[in-house]
Amino acid sequence: MSRFFSGKYARLTPYTPGEQPQDRQYIKLNTNESPFPPSPMAQRLARLEAGELQLYSDPACKKLVSAAAEAFGVRPDEIMFTNGSDDILNFAVMAFCDADHPAVFPDVTYGLYSVLCAVNGVPYEEIPLAEDFTLRVSDYCGVGKTVFLANPNAPTGIPLPRREIEKILSSNPDSVVVVDEAYVDFGGESCLGLIGTYKNLLVTRTFSKSRSLAGGRLGFGVGDRELIRDLNTLRYSTNPYNINRMTMMAGVGALADEKYFRACTEEIIRVRQETAAEMEKLGFEMTPSAANFLFVRHPKFGGAELYALLRDRGILVRHFETPRLKDYNRISVGSREDMRALLNALRELTGERA
Ligand code: PMP
Repeated sequence: MSRFFSGKYARLTPYTPGEQPQDRQYIKLNTNESPFPPSPMAQRLARLEAGELQLYSDPACKKLVSAAAEAFGVRPDEIMFTNGSDDILNFAVMAFCDADHPAVFPDVTYGLYSVLCAVNGVPYEEIPLAEDFTLRVSDYCGVGKTVFLANPNAPTGIPLPRREIEKILSSNPDSVVVVDEAYVDFGGESCLGLIGTYKNLLVTRTFSKSRSLAGGRLGFGVGDRELIRDLNTLRYSTNPYNINRMTMMAGVGALADEKYFRACTEEIIRVRQETAAEMEKLGFEMTPSAANFLFVRHPKFGGAELYALLRDRGILVRHFETPRLKDYNRISVGSREDMRALLNALRELTGERA
């Protein structure tokens, strides 16, 4: 830490993103990226836009906002785009949390929530999930704090039905409820249909997973127009050109190519189910995932141990060395070929310990 670093950040522990190693070619199953390239339409529009990069991007993101409003059945003033959905989560903490409105989220969830609270000086409460990593909805009913829920949850992949989230929304009318739907396209039930009914609902989404644009950095929030106006106040006060021109057009192309989107997500769901069934045969236990990853443990391997054994074999998965997660690994669902390689490695490793 330099002597110039503000004291208000002295105790900040930054989020640790999944590894992006450059030392060798890995089968990358550690950051829940799509194994498929962006839609050809997204690629073509982004390439065309490269010739316009001398000009700033449209801060209002008009083309993208109107394409998304149409695709998701909401009004343009109910949407705001950001640089990945991490960015809108940060704006949501800035906008809707403070000492009088602390944040609340499960103890096992996306690790960035607590970091965003820390960097913004916001108090937060973590409510433990049940032993099987399910969420007790009653814990959040009438909690009176700004609620952050990943649905499906990370890293477990466990989804919550929309009617359960409605109980949280209706019992907390004076608090914002942020529903992070980063993985919803792989089998979750979206709350987008509740926009218009609940003024305290903010749904966040990303193009990083189901639309194969993780490197483009594109996310968005959908909510009541007054919430979106607040979020835009902060966006225009920090980085009004937060979406670059090429990403904006890649987003337009990705939304237009619904057929490609459906083919990719359906394939991931199929491969997830097949991989889960094969892993269960090898003795793995897992949470019921509705996301593009599996959260698994094996009685004969420690979590860190299995992570290291796979890494030695050129397969990268995500391990979290925290008390509740240390026996597990989160494995992204890759291509059929990636999963064949994974299963071969796992057959070999479990066979050695039979
Ligand atoms: N929410 C959850 C639950 C995630 O796992 C991720 C991916 N790390 C994100 C949001 C953010 O993704 P992105 O910033 O790429 O949109």
